[in-house]
Amino acid sequence: MAFNIAIDGPAGAGKSTIAKQIAKKLSFVYVDTGAMYRSIALYMIRNSIDIYNEEAVSNVCSDIHISIKYEGEEQQVILNEENVTSFIRAEEVGVVASVVSAYPKVRETLLKLQQQLAASNDVIMDGRDIGTCVLPNADVKIYLTADARVRANRRYLELKKKGQECNIDEIEKDIVDRDYRDMTREISPLCQAEDAVVVNTSDMNIDEVIDAIIAIVNANKMSERKEV
Ligand code: C5P
Repeated sequence: MAFNIAIDGPAGAGKSTIAKQIAKKLSFVYVDTGAMYRSIALYMIRNSIDIYNEEAVSNVCSDIHISIKYEGEEQQVILNEENVTSFIRAEEVGVVASVVSAYPKVRETLLKLQQQLAASNDVIMDGRDIGTCVLPNADVKIYLTADARVRANRRYLELKKKGQECNIDEIEKDIVDRDYRDMTREISPLCQAEDAVVVNTSDMNIDEVIDAIIAIVNANKMSERKEV
């Protein structure tokens, strides 16, 4: 049986950074579901689809085929046979992803792929609805969060390091707006699964977060062994 770790949480909580490193340490496959939603968003942008028109977005979903492959440990997202991994990180793509991901047809397009990956591999999968909807039986569920200002500051430092002009207040507003959309949508809203462990990283560095999560995984493995 595959062992599944679900990591959910708001924008900029560090889910992908943390999940990637844990996957490496545990020899698990890392699955970034946000990248899949971002690829659908990219399709909408490139094809000038009105993202506020649910019918228009839903109608083109049957033209979208998403799959993933790995180059080393790096997940690559393939959108209709094109590797779009390097085009999906822009802020605009994230914002569009948070609008279209609220539509049932969009979520339906990705659900099966995500569940199949987890059924056949030991995965650490991050997103917004992994512990609640995609993998309700995941062995370990983590809800990773941090104060909005802390998350904005991390993002600000990251962009500055890349030499990009940015304003911390705007970044924080973007994060808060995106969280609000993700938490208040009708289908698969971002929320903590009842059986998830909350890890608030506001005052933790990356290594501390990784150690904390690996300790939770190991404790779970020990208790599963006792139950057998
Ligand atoms: O995590 P990331 O910022 O890449 O996700 C982009 C957007 O995709 C999120 O703001 C959210 O709206 C959507 N998403 C989702 N469900 C997931 C992963 C991402 O709705 N499992």
